[in-house]
Amino acid sequence: MGNKYDANLIVIGAGSGGLVTAYIAATIKAKVILVEKGEMGGDCLNTGCIPSKSLIASAKFIHEISQSENYGIRRANCDFDFAEVMQRVHRVIDSIRPHDSVERFTALGVDVIMGQAEITSRHSVRVNGQELTARSIVIAAGAEPFVPPIEGMEHCGYYTSDTIWNLTELPDKMVILGGGPIGSELTQCFARFGSEVTLVERSDRIMVREDREFSDQLTRTFTDEGVTVRTGHDAQRVLIKDGRKFLQCEHNGKTVDVEFDTLLVALGRAARLEGYGLENLDIPISSRNSIEANEYLQAGYTNIYAVGDVTGPYQFTHFAAHQAWYACVNALFSPFRKFRVDYSVIPWCTYTDPELARVGLNEQDAKQQNIAYEVTRYELSELDRARTDGHAEGSIKVLTVPGKDKILGATIIGKHAGDLIAEFVLAMSHGLGLNKILGTIHAYPTWMEANKFAAGNWKKAHAPPWALNLLEKFHRWRRN
Ligand SMILES: Cc1cc2nc3c(=O)[nH]c(=O)nc-3n(C[C@H](O)[C@H](O)[C@H](O)COP(=O)(O)OP(=O)(O)OC[C@H]3O[C@@H](n4cnc5c(N)ncnc54)[C@H](O)[C@@H]3O)c2cc1C
Repeated sequence: MGNKYDANLIVIGAGSGGLVTAYIAATIKAKVILVEKGEMGGDCLNTGCIPSKSLIASAKFIHEISQSENYGIRRANCDFDFAEVMQRVHRVIDSIRPHDSVERFTALGVDVIMGQAEITSRHSVRVNGQELTARSIVIAAGAEPFVPPIEGMEHCGYYTSDTIWNLTELPDKMVILGGGPIGSELTQCFARFGSEVTLVERSDRIMVREDREFSDQLTRTFTDEGVTVRTGHDAQRVLIKDGRKFLQCEHNGKTVDVEFDTLLVALGRAARLEGYGLENLDIPISSRNSIEANEYLQAGYTNIYAVGDVTGPYQFTHFAAHQAWYACVNALFSPFRKFRVDYSVIPWCTYTDPELARVGLNEQDAKQQNIAYEVTRYELSELDRARTDGHAEGSIKVLTVPGKDKILGATIIGKHAGDLIAEFVLAMSHGLGLNKILGTIHAYPTWMEANKFAAGNWKKAHAPPWALNLLEKFHRWRRN
């Protein structure tokens, strides 16, 4: 007798969310079909994390050379061709590509089909004219750059994070619209290559999700590096005057024209809601305009799941991968076993220089949610390794439950912040407090020691005065 379904799972989209879903399903011996209409690896590999971090690496290298005196080196020059820098970006993508390839996933036991998937019913998907059926479907269709209808923009031309990687010539005058993580990373990057960059942001500061002090520190760094940061500027239209292009903004009731030859729109990413048959089903759309998934990641139907940028609430590769485990396991084992998603400890990092990383609550969130907290700080200027490396700037800010060492959240700004945050992620995930970080041996001299010293600052601030008084008396007595 034939099977009722062709597969246990059909996964739509081979980006971070879809690849991890398919990988887990195949590993635990389910029959899984993975459908991709574009390039394997999705946004992260082709137009997101990998190209951006590769470009940032080259920009950082140029910057370090310009800071040679910081290392006792009188003069260091560099000579580069932006086209070659971009070629390197694509070489890095190509070097990682095999990891996400059809060949690798086929070898892992996944049936990969290249083509556009369209859900036709709650158990069927049409691809390349063929109707495939599965007990469950996972939608991992991702997101695309959000481009608002700004008058004149289509006419003048603009880039997004989907297309900027095709540049082969360094822009002369660049406007980057949007001071979020993508806009901030690329602003600093292009400025370091030598473009004249203006960052335009509607809010009164960049990186609004982070505490103001960190936005301010990044703004100062950008300004020192020659970027013009225009906060409080609301983009209205794009104009051409005498053959020159301008982004016209409203600022404090006045009109400000910012000239550019290259415009990058980095205003966030909108969940992809078209092109895979949503209209054929009754899948709810959230107020954030993404697929609404419940605590099991089910989207409107008990056998249809959504993961990654298409549902959110966070849009990170590691978050998509985190959701993928839940969606995959729930899809394969429900109704016998179901797991609620756990978003209590989600880290992220913006790869500016200094990096800005966070896990859990920051001060503005704690205030907004009326959660009582205490703040402990540690300045990286006090860290030996930060001094030897010539990067003794930045800080760690930890929020704890008042009177306890329980960590509510941590924000780190500084070199390697994205790596340093991992210890707080581990601690929060496993209920370890600052005392446990303090009681852990950290190799000397490392950046990781900063976490221990932050924990030490908490300890010093919480040493009970009565105990210290008693100790003082004890030692005095011992001296007699
Ligand atoms: C510039 C930039 C930098 C970033 N940097 C970071 C970073 O440093 N760290 C981090 O964690 N995150 C970063 N991100 C975010 C990260 O890239 C995304 O969160 C992540 O890739 C989302 O994965 P996903 O699987 O949800 O979607 P995607 O990777 O977008 O995958 C969706 C896939 O679905 C396919 N698809 C869509 N419709 C269909 C259909 N009908 N049929 C078949 N296939 C379909 C698409 O072609 C695509 O390949 C960055 C993003 C950008 C743009």
